[in-house]
Amino acid sequence: MNRAEMWRRIEAHPKAWDMLVVGGGATGVGVGIDAAARGYDVLLLEQSDFGKGSSSRSTKLAHGGVRYLEQGDIGLVMEALKERGLLLQNAPHLVHDLRFVVPNYDWWETPFYGLGLKLYELLAGKYGFGTSRILSKEETLEHLPTLKTEGLRGGAVYYDGQFDDARLLIHMVATAFEQGATLLNYVEVTGLTKDAQGFVDGVSARDVETGNQFRAGAKVVVNATGAFSDLLRLKADPSAAPLIVPSQGIHLVFDSSFLQGESAVMVPHTSDGRVLFAIPWHGHTLVGTTDTPIAAATLEPVAMEQEIEFILATAGQYLTKAPTRDDVLSVFAGIRPLVGATGVASSVFRTAALSRDHVVHIDRSGLVTICGGKWTTYRHMAEDCVDQAATLAQLPDSPCVTHHLHIHGFCEATKQFGSLAVYGSDAYEIRKLIQTSTGLGEPLHEALPYVKAEVIWAARHEMARTVEDTLARRTRALFLNARAALAMAPAVADLMAAELGWDEVTRTKQLAAFRDVASSYMLHP
Ligand SMILES: Cc1cc2nc3c(=O)[nH]c(=O)nc-3n(C[C@H](O)[C@H](O)[C@H](O)COP(=O)(O)OP(=O)(O)OC[C@H]3O[C@@H](n4cnc5c(N)ncnc54)[C@H](O)[C@@H]3O)c2cc1C
Repeated sequence: MNRAEMWRRIEAHPKAWDMLVVGGGATGVGVGIDAAARGYDVLLLEQSDFGKGSSSRSTKLAHGGVRYLEQGDIGLVMEALKERGLLLQNAPHLVHDLRFVVPNYDWWETPFYGLGLKLYELLAGKYGFGTSRILSKEETLEHLPTLKTEGLRGGAVYYDGQFDDARLLIHMVATAFEQGATLLNYVEVTGLTKDAQGFVDGVSARDVETGNQFRAGAKVVVNATGAFSDLLRLKADPSAAPLIVPSQGIHLVFDSSFLQGESAVMVPHTSDGRVLFAIPWHGHTLVGTTDTPIAAATLEPVAMEQEIEFILATAGQYLTKAPTRDDVLSVFAGIRPLVGATGVASSVFRTAALSRDHVVHIDRSGLVTICGGKWTTYRHMAEDCVDQAATLAQLPDSPCVTHHLHIHGFCEATKQFGSLAVYGSDAYEIRKLIQTSTGLGEPLHEALPYVKAEVIWAARHEMARTVEDTLARRTRALFLNARAALAMAPAVADLMAAELGWDEVTRTKQLAAFRDVASSYMLHP
């Protein structure tokens, strides 16, 4: 999987693609896998890196959404719980179950949450992850030794899934490629082209690396641009009513001392009425999130001061060691592509709102937009979208086959690979690479497990094109410890320069660009 091969495939493809997908997040890549696995001819274009948008900035939970239970949306929870189960089956190297403890400080909380979580477990049916139960105060503290004891009455335990979002996405890109799709990062779709009847019949696009413009024809164009969906819709129809209501959520990352043990904390009701998680993730503690309405989406959103203060204060109410700004190793923000009701109501032609969770929307120009939903349900969203897009494009009928399609790197026994476990079966190849040259097994920073060979692997086989791609999404260094990531950057740039043929000017530019991005992941005094 490399850029040269992708360009070769495009050049060798003069006719219209069956399906052209715009957007390389979980939704777009999910559509790419589904359509390619059905035998359709697919091109996917991403303006930045795969996963640069929301799909690398989530809480990293494959979950049914305990919160939706409270809202009485049983169907939505069941759908997500089933998808959680399929994800574990198809990508056991990237998804694992995680024990969550809901600490109880009021007398009514234990039976209330105990019953609710039992229902959550039952709804998963054969896709269940583990048995929920009520815990005594002592048991709660056994699972969560750093929980505040004052007023603690007990807790309730339940199980959900956890994954590394950007890493899963890269393996999904590889899966789509193996199914025959052509996927390019750093190609921006700048416009939509139309036939004589005014129906979208392709895109105009720009290679961000070279500035070259080109046109690609398609029988159907799928808009999977997440929080940016309305921008592309406006290119097809300047009068299109908006679908997306963007909302920002942030996370803070601390070292593992704040949450010792292997369990996560779930606070079901924060002072702003949301859920807060504190989760062990890659040897660190991830705490989030917030829900702040914003005017418009940006590719590199920045955490707001009040969001940072809110998370610090709320975490401090539950953890014995209250975290401070100085303890924050990384802060990252993401944008939820929520679907608002008003835009849908005023749209011209809405084919389906297949659940309250996601929407497949067809504009009068024939542009298909898939938006809303969540990471966990990407496969189901893709199935719905491809069903409708294929009908619209009059493609030959072909059933969805992703229920049991393994994600690239599928491997059940990954513990043997240590810190390379997230690569699944690719870890064998990375180990071989380490043996080819001395020093490739050396860590790039004492605070993080990443070794030099992973940088070469990312550039050679995972389409990493920038220092940021490698440090933010091929490894998760930037998300775990921004200062350590910054310290690693020069060595990463050297390795990538040798691999991708960068000259000194490019190397310097790459480092400057990374410094810029990394500065918003650090808290300054
Ligand atoms: C704070 C937060 C926490 C979350 N936690 C969870 C969780 O724990 N579990 C869960 O299941 N879900 C979670 N979600 C939801 C989940 O992250 C999103 O639903 C999902 O990532 C959306 O994916 P997407 O592909 O639709 O959007 P994105 O990942 O944003 O992808 C859209 C892509 O389109 C590209 N693009 C835009 N315009 C163009 C163009 N003109 N040309 C080419 N490319 C373009 C962008 O660059 C971007 O990469 C969370 C979301 C947030 C914000």
